Amino acid sequence: MSRNLELFERGKQVIPGGVNSPVRAFGQVGGTPRFVKRAEGAWFWDADDKQYLDYVGSWGPAILGHAHPEVVKAVQDAAVGGLSFGAPTEGEVAIAEEICKLLPSVEQVRLVSSGTEATMSTIRLARGFTGRDLIVKFEGCYHGHSDSLLVKAGSGLLTFGNPSSGGVPADCTKHTLVLQYNDVNQLSDTFKELGDKIACVILEPIAGNMNLIKPSAEFVKALRALTEQYGAVLIYDEVMTGFRVALECAQGLHGITPDLTTLGKVVGGGMPLAAFGGRADIMGKIAPLGNVYQAGTLSGNPLSVAAGLATLRLIQQPGFHAALGTRSARLAQGLAEAAREAGVPLSSDSVGGMFGFYFSESVPASYAEATRCDIPRFKAFFHAMLDEGVYLAPSAYEAGFISIAHTEALIEDTIAAARRAFANI
Ligand SMILES: *Cc1c(COP(=O)(O)O)cnc(C)c1O
Repeated sequence: MSRNLELFERGKQVIPGGVNSPVRAFGQVGGTPRFVKRAEGAWFWDADDKQYLDYVGSWGPAILGHAHPEVVKAVQDAAVGGLSFGAPTEGEVAIAEEICKLLPSVEQVRLVSSGTEATMSTIRLARGFTGRDLIVKFEGCYHGHSDSLLVKAGSGLLTFGNPSSGGVPADCTKHTLVLQYNDVNQLSDTFKELGDKIACVILEPIAGNMNLIKPSAEFVKALRALTEQYGAVLIYDEVMTGFRVALECAQGLHGITPDLTTLGKVVGGGMPLAAFGGRADIMGKIAPLGNVYQAGTLSGNPLSVAAGLATLRLIQQPGFHAALGTRSARLAQGLAEAAREAGVPLSSDSVGGMFGFYFSESVPASYAEATRCDIPRFKAFFHAMLDEGVYLAPSAYEAGFISIAHTEALIEDTIAAARRAFANI
């Protein structure tokens, strides 16, 4: 029997669904999840010692490839000095300085341990700062699993959200408005009607949790103009895009200065670290300076900070993001070409170290459009690629990630594998 299957069966006895985060269970694609034994560069090896070219990269953090020697060394050195203190360290100051240096919109920043904590805390902060309750999010954007953000659109144009998870009281989501991504009219109508009650707008500035979806320039401009006009806080949730789409993040690409930004994934270099920061007048409302409470026993953990600092320094090498961008663009284009040759309708897109491919004629602009893709075909392609030793995200609604260890030659190998996969499905 496959060792992956054996571990999955064993795991299911003691872990719900055998996994510690739902998408890992292969629910959408079926089959047995691959249990990772070790990983290096662009590759990982599963429990059966089969080798895979990894396009998930821990869902984004592995931008340098797995187990980069300098990152590993930084973590080892930190570990020898103690694992956690519950008291401040120099590393925390250094990584905060680094983040503030790289992101002009961030004057002050606080470290936390997960993206969920970062987004949850920014929402609380925006409410505390404005004294307002309403928050606006967009359908298909994921901001972690705190109650007020686990919400789906109600029916009708201007409706408050309904819980999208069991265990979330409707009372927790009744202040959350869910709008359509890229719908400028709906956004401005919402502000006209409720603008003076809206504490904040939170968005994935380039969406990566409903496959890869880019905002239009008009949408981005309207977001900044309306939040400014009505005194609402604009939150760029860059947990996925931060330091991945560009060194200056999505906000740099957009030429937008958000009020608050959340970071995670790349910023921790594979360790549990996330951050939120922005305008000093808003950040000054957090305890101990202000009355908005926020805390964490392991916040700014020295091992996580060491991994994050080493990663942030390495990605500042000249040409780093340009190389990532060229390679993911080539991958996206190559996948579309391979599909076209096989007569399979497929579109694709990319930005920096992120890519998306869609089993539909055109690149989607919203959640509704993203869900109009051919899921059975995606499943067949996913498994054909897995057989080829290429590990794609096990869901049609996730973006793909490359690392700097994904060389041009590996990208060409992947396109060749896709050509064979399309021919067989
Ligand atoms: C991953 C992600 C989160 C949640 O981060 P966790 O570390 O998984 O809690 C929040 N927002 C976005 C945009 C993400 O991609």
